[in-house]
Amino acid sequence: MKTFTTTLAAVALGAFGLLGAAQAQDKGTVGVAMPTKSSARWIDDGNNMVKVLKEKGYNVDLQYAEDDIPNQLSQIENMITKGAKVLVIAAIDGTTLSDALQQAADKGIKVIAYDRLIRNSKNVDYYATFDNFQVGVLQGGYIEKALGLKEGKGPFNIELFGGSPDDNNAYFFYNGAMSVLEPYIKSGKLKVVSGQTGMDKVSTLRWDGAVAQARMDNLLSAFYTDKRVDAVLSPYDGLSIGIISSLKGVGYGTPKQPMPVITGQDAEVPSIKSILAKEQTSTVFKDTRELAKVTVNMVDAVLSGKQPEVNDTKTYENGVKVVPSYLLKPVSVDASNWKEVLVGSGYYKEDQFK
Ligand code: BGC
Repeated sequence: MKTFTTTLAAVALGAFGLLGAAQAQDKGTVGVAMPTKSSARWIDDGNNMVKVLKEKGYNVDLQYAEDDIPNQLSQIENMITKGAKVLVIAAIDGTTLSDALQQAADKGIKVIAYDRLIRNSKNVDYYATFDNFQVGVLQGGYIEKALGLKEGKGPFNIELFGGSPDDNNAYFFYNGAMSVLEPYIKSGKLKVVSGQTGMDKVSTLRWDGAVAQARMDNLLSAFYTDKRVDAVLSPYDGLSIGIISSLKGVGYGTPKQPMPVITGQDAEVPSIKSILAKEQTSTVFKDTRELAKVTVNMVDAVLSGKQPEVNDTKTYENGVKVVPSYLLKPVSVDASNWKEVLVGSGYYKEDQFK
């Protein structure tokens, strides 16, 4: 009897297994190209994409390229050769994929730009992202509020950091932040003591924290030996960590010489800990679970010949066309709301911050 039941169970399991596989086979494989595992946000993105795609019956070919452009290109070419039905791409360099995307288009493979816009190609069908300009507005707005600029306080000293110049988002973040900060720079309430403004001067190749740290070291020794820096615009948590190390190196972070206001983005665990330790001041949370849902809905729609849901058809001109987009809302996070936003939403567990 026991053997019989076990056999039955095994048969049933086998059948379910086959059914599951057959279903996944039916819907085909989605290639997901992610930039790097060096930042937790992209690991979350990859995991969420796999989870939601599998729930909907797709196979997933998830690849990380460790910020190496040729590596990402060959991963994408491989996905095309292996017969992916749709490509979901978070590009390292948004300008270098045109040939591969033409190959994809020739085979009828649809392409969804994930989080970062792919530029200079007509073969980008849709774009799922957050409101990137608004990310910058939140960062600039945080500095405005923390310093009391609206109330007329100042003048304060500030330095500006930008993201990677090959990432379209970096310009949106910078322009969004400057839309808030520029009037104060013009009126003299904010002084960029180094004089370094504009993405051509403040960008940080490959979003590399060590590059930001080195630049901050230079700024502090060249311009701040007799002055205090009151705020640093940083577009990403990984850069903020480098900037904070540099500041600590010259004595910031003590009761006598508190840290400047320092922004960030992605609400990564080390940076939330840093906020709780009163080092970083704020970050911007982007719920990658929601981004995965929106993206997979687009995948489903393009494969069933339907129009994916979009909420922006004006903003994301990629050099060749305006890519129809779905923009999610970013949320500003600091010591006052981190628990409610990050733990309350179930994105993190509280014990991750102990
Ligand atoms: C993303 C940000 C991220 C940055 C560095 C950007 O394209 O939108 O969320 O902080 O890349 O990885």
